Amino acid sequence: MVGPAQPEVIRPGATLGVLGGGQLGAMFAMAARRMGYAVEAVSDVADCPAARHCDRLHVVDFADAAAVARAAARSAVVTFEFENVPVAAARMLAASVPVRPSPAVLFTTQDRGREKAFLVAHAIPCAPHRLVRSREELHAAAAAIGLPAVVKTAAFGYDGKGQRRLDEPAAIDAAWDALGPGELVLEGWVDFDCEISVVAARGLDGAIAVFEPTRNVHRHHILDVSSAPAELPAPVLAAARETTAVLLERLGVVGVACVEFFVTRDGRVLVNEIAPRPHNSGHLTIDACETSQFEQQVRAICGLPLGCTRQLAPAAMANLLGDCWSGGEPDWAAALSVTGTRLLLYGKHQPRPGRKMGHLTTLAESVAAAVVGVTRSRSLACLPPADRR
Ligand code: AMP
Repeated sequence: MVGPAQPEVIRPGATLGVLGGGQLGAMFAMAARRMGYAVEAVSDVADCPAARHCDRLHVVDFADAAAVARAAARSAVVTFEFENVPVAAARMLAASVPVRPSPAVLFTTQDRGREKAFLVAHAIPCAPHRLVRSREELHAAAAAIGLPAVVKTAAFGYDGKGQRRLDEPAAIDAAWDALGPGELVLEGWVDFDCEISVVAARGLDGAIAVFEPTRNVHRHHILDVSSAPAELPAPVLAAARETTAVLLERLGVVGVACVEFFVTRDGRVLVNEIAPRPHNSGHLTIDACETSQFEQQVRAICGLPLGCTRQLAPAAMANLLGDCWSGGEPDWAAALSVTGTRLLLYGKHQPRPGRKMGHLTTLAESVAAAVVGVTRSRSLACLPPADRR
């Protein structure tokens, strides 16, 4: 008997390509190599985190689409670890090798204007917003949406870069001078109760596996601490999971994606951002879940069954930014004296302020204890040497 066509599986032993050589690429490579795959990373910097974890690193200029396509020619499938990969390069590549998620997903999600239009077209709730292309349009949008608001560049923004909060009309011109010209998105300020995110994967066969939503706290627009379970009312969590699954399906993602949400004080979930790749807020899945977000990425792009997303213990993750190095090398022994804590360093040599250098994850009996533990661990690591015992 002939059954339904099975998606073609890319088996261990094959070479997987990843565009981007940052920590997300490094952690993808670790998961893939553990499963017996070879990994070739494509980066515009030689000394990148993925360099130590892949079989081969191709250093190319991403603006050179043909060079990107050549670099990934030996891969059975190619994925990416940052969404600012030029779509032209992804499209050229896709002519000869599967690119998962597809260049179309990249195209929609790498521009805030297109992403918002997609959300509106699919009736998915998000903050009130307007796309603006001129100083006059920015003034008009601020008047229509009201202040406070936040202005964001449509393209190439991350970790709060390319953003300005607007509290009064007098600040509008300065915001345009700083962020324009070019397309900007003006968003109404959401007075949220909290921020959460949901990482999920969609396989080649359309199956979707959703991880436990994480609760996220940002500092200076950069993720600071994530914890899970998020401990919110069941309907809020269900809405976030459901919206994430719908988005992966409608976008046609094959791979992993993360959806960030604002949870409003009246319990609504508004989509803030979609990242078509593993996400910083999903790093706790490495230590706390049956399958990590990176193994899930490998499984999804290779046509393998998705892994179980069950969380094995309450967990919290704290980012280690370059600031932690201001007094010299952090005290890792002190950090790891906190029970249930694990360290993951990305191998970056220059600890600049705001740069993500690594993270700590603590597993505990309760989320509250995990947050206390990971925060304490990080404080101990980052104590100036004069204050250490
Ligand atoms: P983003 O780069 O868009 O994810 O923004 C980074 C962080 O800035 C978010 O995680 C929020 O903490 C804050 N933020 C961004 N947009 C808004 C908004 N419309 N209302 C309130 N806070 C926001």
